Amino acid sequence: MKWEVYEVSSPVRHYTGGRFHTTGEPFPLIDPVDGRTVGTVPEADRATVDAAVRAAREALSGPWASYTAADRARMLHRIADGIEARFEEFVAAECADTGKPRELAAAVDVPRGVANFRAYADLSVSRGEQAWHTEAPEGRGALNYTVRKPLGVVAVVAPWNLPLLLLTWKVAPALAMGNTVVAKPSELTPSTAHLLAEVIDAAQLPAGVFNLVHGHGADAAGAWLTGHPGVDAVAFTGESATGSAIMRAAADHLTPVSFELGGKNAGLVFADADLEAAVAGTLRSSFTNSGQVCLCTERVYVERPVFEEFAEALARGAREVAYGPMVSAEHRDKVLGHLRRAAGDGRVLAGGGAPEFGDARDGGFWVRPTVLAGLPEDHPAVREEIFGPVVHLAPFDTEEEAVALANAGPYGLAATVWTGDLARAHRVAPRLDVGIAWVNTWNLRDLRTPFGGVKASGIGREGGHHSLDFFSEPMNVCVRI
Ligand code: NAD
Repeated sequence: MKWEVYEVSSPVRHYTGGRFHTTGEPFPLIDPVDGRTVGTVPEADRATVDAAVRAAREALSGPWASYTAADRARMLHRIADGIEARFEEFVAAECADTGKPRELAAAVDVPRGVANFRAYADLSVSRGEQAWHTEAPEGRGALNYTVRKPLGVVAVVAPWNLPLLLLTWKVAPALAMGNTVVAKPSELTPSTAHLLAEVIDAAQLPAGVFNLVHGHGADAAGAWLTGHPGVDAVAFTGESATGSAIMRAAADHLTPVSFELGGKNAGLVFADADLEAAVAGTLRSSFTNSGQVCLCTERVYVERPVFEEFAEALARGAREVAYGPMVSAEHRDKVLGHLRRAAGDGRVLAGGGAPEFGDARDGGFWVRPTVLAGLPEDHPAVREEIFGPVVHLAPFDTEEEAVALANAGPYGLAATVWTGDLARAHRVAPRLDVGIAWVNTWNLRDLRTPFGGVKASGIGREGGHHSLDFFSEPMNVCVRI
């Protein structure tokens, strides 16, 4: 099998106050496909983070303050146009950083980056606010109405799995509502964020409205930014444990947070399902992006009469799936650690370790798509988020048991239900303790719908008006009539 080598077209730099620079010690940027160093990234020091936050604060009272919602929406569309004009560069940068297959970056990551700007541009201009005509008992009347104000300076911290998609998912609504932004992408995948800064610069967003700093998370740029007294809100996507650390830091300044965190998503396959569709859907939901999507299915419960048939077909499919590497050596080692332990305690139906290619890819961070079975429910591979191409199968006997199994554990992000019984679909889906349940499909997204998780999977909802609400402050005006 041949593989492509992708290059990043422009060296990664910070963008603060409308200026690109490389202040700070550089650290290497590694291609996960073969472990090559493909560039360097400047590690922001505390002064760079301070300068970014200061620039964002100053920009709140600059020309940006006089932009109407329609002006801001026009600017968002201009940014979307700018990404589209450099589409192939964005795709190449996403592939170079993550190692993901080109088709995925070209079909999902970059188009969704564009769609995020367009969707929030359109939603923000078509938005209305509430008003009440109030009649008080003693005959005093009033008109109450809500006005929405920006929060101020918003910190956006994003993970490495869908770098552009997840960063723009927050940057776009934050800008649409008139905030200024300091963004920090993952240290592992900074390149499309840098290209975005170039597009924003070319679109002539006023200096300081969008700022970008690079660097690590703990005891580094991520922590300094999210705990900064000059930040008015934190929007974060990443691990649940990181969410806890950010919340502790944000607590000092009572900074509001919106969190999209980890998952250990369940799939339920009922015997009345279209099994072929359930197998194909589960292959997609477990192995897309090599399992490195927060919405990926890592546990599948199958009704006993069809368990063996489903397991066999899924294992067969897993051997054929096209896949990319894990994002880093550290993450590969974590996934392989889970697999070693699971292999000793249960059954490996497909995959089960690192592939050997006999070429440069052996220097990369690959793990074969793996199907496990026979592990107890309290096993780490069934309970903990692996975030790799690994799915565990277990049988169930009743609908009640299926719901209980899906709802067990600390996470509550997403679930899939495969059934041919319409009544069952509507009965089961709402009982699942998750933010998003899919029936007979997976990851079919409408950007206007609420998105987020319960339990350890998140705080708050984003998507559509939920994002516009989070990134703005409602204020009531009461006028005596
Ligand atoms: P991570 O939490 O390690 O890192 C995410 C970001 O936070 C990075 O930019 C990192 O530098 C920064 N960071 C790390 N420690 C920090 C700290 N103490 N203070 C401030 N910032 C800090 O997550 P990851 O490994 O990049 O991403 C994978 C995780 O993200 C998985 O758990 C996955 O489920 C989750 N995720 C969730 C969603 C969702 O929508 N719910 C989407 C994608 C990924």
